[in-house]
Amino acid sequence: MKVTELIAEAKETIISFEILPPTKGKSIESIYSHLDPLMEFKPAFINVTYHRAEQILKTRKDGSLEMVEIRKRPGTVGICAALMNKYKVDAIPHLICGGFSKTETENALIDLDFLGIKNVLALRGDAAANEKFFTPHNQGHRFAEDLVKQIVDMNNGRYMEEDIIDGAKTDFCIGVAGYPEKHFESPNNDIDIYYLKRKIDLGADYITTQLFFNNEHYYNFENRCKAHGINAPIMPGLKPLTNKKQLTIIPRVFNVEVPVELYTEMMKAKNEAACEQVGTEWLTHQCKDLLKNKAKILHFYTLGKPSVIYNVLKQIL
Ligand code: FAD
Repeated sequence: MKVTELIAEAKETIISFEILPPTKGKSIESIYSHLDPLMEFKPAFINVTYHRAEQILKTRKDGSLEMVEIRKRPGTVGICAALMNKYKVDAIPHLICGGFSKTETENALIDLDFLGIKNVLALRGDAAANEKFFTPHNQGHRFAEDLVKQIVDMNNGRYMEEDIIDGAKTDFCIGVAGYPEKHFESPNNDIDIYYLKRKIDLGADYITTQLFFNNEHYYNFENRCKAHGINAPIMPGLKPLTNKKQLTIIPRVFNVEVPVELYTEMMKAKNEAACEQVGTEWLTHQCKDLLKNKAKILHFYTLGKPSVIYNVLKQIL
């Protein structure tokens, strides 16, 4: 089912999860053991992230260097198919612009359509590990809005090869990313929302947000969206903090703030279990507040400690 239909038909708050493909060398069982306990909460869908290839310098036996491409987390499409098969749940692959030509993107979308996948999250992706700034593939897309346009074209039966006339129309429901604390490259909140609105006006159907630890950022973002005429459903992205290292890593990686109270409580924690307890209580409080404010959906980033998400859901559902 499409995310927009699920939201429109839901009688109570929807729960959904996001997972990462395992690193190369691990089996699909690591995904199942991660998700099995969480399936008790009947998620409406599960997102599967996509990770671009990295270029690394490898030393050959003769000592010379060679640049090789590695993909540490392959398998997004295969995992989506496996989840749909095993759990009978909708799976949403993330599609990124980085590293893809438009033709490769089109072929990926054809695969997804053939698999019966109805939703995709269309993203730009970040700069590659060896780049300072995001650089598009020389035959690819620069911004997520260009990817949205390509998916909308396919939904209208328009493919890249112009001699395909009356092509089969795909029927993807398109999600895009939104940033309660603004995207780190945006000069200010208004410009950030301006480009978000362009994605919606071009045909995106809903917005999934970056994680946040202060609900005020989310409510302000919702209000900014409304003020700019964005009426698409917005789903809040939620992730627990579970250890002290994350206090500095998460702000750097995701460009979000950690509130003083959360920081202070985490610093007081004496051991791993106490840290997890702080993270559980904070996220439970965030969720209860979102529910009080009539959130239609709670989307959990389950990376790392699914048991913390499990404990939070036990308390709020
Ligand atoms: P865009 O919407 O293209 O925006 C990027 C920047 O460009 C913004 O600052 C925007 O304001 C600006 N901009 C947009 N359009 C224009 C324009 N026409 N002209 C000028 N400026 C413009 N990354 C992954 O690699 N894999 C994933 O699976 C993944 N999943 C994610 C899931 C969620 C919910 C979120 C929030 C992020 C995810 N990311 C993922 C990270 C994401 O790829 C990065 O945040 C990336 O830097 C921006 O992606 P975007 O789709 O928001 O880009």
